[in-house]
Amino acid sequence: MERVAELLERSFKLRDGVLVVGEAGIDELAATYGTPLFVYDRAVVDAQLRLLRDALPASFDLFYSIKANPNATILRHFITAGCGLEVASAGEFEQARASGSPTERIVFAGPGKTDEELELVAAAGIGEIHAESAAEVDRLAAICDRLDRTIAVALRVNPGTEAVGGAMRMGGAPSPFGVDEEALESVLERLLSTERLTFAGIHLYAGTQILDHEVLLAQYRHGLEIARRASAQAGHALATVDFGGGLGIPYFPSESQLDVARLGDGLTALSNGVVDDAAFAGTRFVLEPGRFLVGEAGIYVARITDIKVSRGKKFLITDGGMHHHLAASGNLGMLIKRNFPAAIVTKLAVAERETVDLVGPLCTPLDTIGRSVSLPPAEVGDLVAIFQSGAYARAASPLGFLSHLAPPEVWVDGGSHSLIRQRGETVDYLRDQPQL
Ligand SMILES: *Cc1c(COP(=O)(O)O)cnc(C)c1O
Repeated sequence: MERVAELLERSFKLRDGVLVVGEAGIDELAATYGTPLFVYDRAVVDAQLRLLRDALPASFDLFYSIKANPNATILRHFITAGCGLEVASAGEFEQARASGSPTERIVFAGPGKTDEELELVAAAGIGEIHAESAAEVDRLAAICDRLDRTIAVALRVNPGTEAVGGAMRMGGAPSPFGVDEEALESVLERLLSTERLTFAGIHLYAGTQILDHEVLLAQYRHGLEIARRASAQAGHALATVDFGGGLGIPYFPSESQLDVARLGDGLTALSNGVVDDAAFAGTRFVLEPGRFLVGEAGIYVARITDIKVSRGKKFLITDGGMHHHLAASGNLGMLIKRNFPAAIVTKLAVAERETVDLVGPLCTPLDTIGRSVSLPPAEVGDLVAIFQSGAYARAASPLGFLSHLAPPEVWVDGGSHSLIRQRGETVDYLRDQPQL
């Protein structure tokens, strides 16, 4: 099925040819909050969370990965739903705390953590630090000695194998993330010799946007083997085995939904297989998805401000673009530029089609958010929506490029909707910055 049609059936509604989010028409939301804007539907966040939770064995705990979408309302929503938070910077740690997360429900991963960041979380307390190198273990040990603090540390491992279609292939890639599997024993030795660091377990996160449950399961199986060896070396059961995030959502016509039920079946088999294994006595297994939980809930909406034909090609020019949604422009590390699912959401009942390019207001040809898209004939004033825009969209965009105002964010909860970030606002925990 065509992606937009699939999303309309799964997650959204239609009224008189106009997109409906929760109970609000997209035209009404655009009129209330102005364009361009991001709209997030709570029901879709909850549906994805439920889908995953229902599939996972009871020994699994979910940590939401903040970098996918750090909006404070979204963080609070996950905290209230019982999720922990995965952060990768001091800023994200502050966002997590400001949103009301208990520090023991926060884990901190990411390469290149600075001494300042490590000191901040060591002093404030944190669930776990996921160390990414031997040097980081040493620096953290010194900081904890100085602060007289004890911290739980899991080691992030860069596996020595790669998952290919459900099978593991030898020869992992070089990576700035984690400790190479081959070096794990020596780094763990170092960690075990420190006074203030407790070895909590293993963290493995091999890649993002994975839609094949067999690929995920193959990684998890390999992760368990690594964890078993680490437990034997440490001489105790592991508190945590963190399998990372990476669960994908479909964007392009060739992709389909991750089979969460089969992923869950595989994980159940995996955890049943280790019930009698002393290495995993009382172990908490963790997934830390970002994209899967919030991606589908978000829609980026822009208004058509001009329409022109240049040498036979038709351009719909909108008030939004790559400065708000770099991923949709294909410039966020994509190998091939492919179109995100897009629609004229004020003309969903129109069957007629024409081929157009969707572009933004920036003075660069990079600012194209749809190439040769088949859409109904549109008029100036119509609304364009880019679907699958709740994760790595606003948060991963060059908001300052060309000095347009940063887009607002709106949270829709059934019959009500509210502004959860004002237009122009970028980072909300730094509100009290001195005026220059
Ligand atoms: C980005 C990230 C995630 C989330 O990845 P998704 O692909 O969005 O699920 C999880 N863990 C770590 C350490 C990350 O850096």
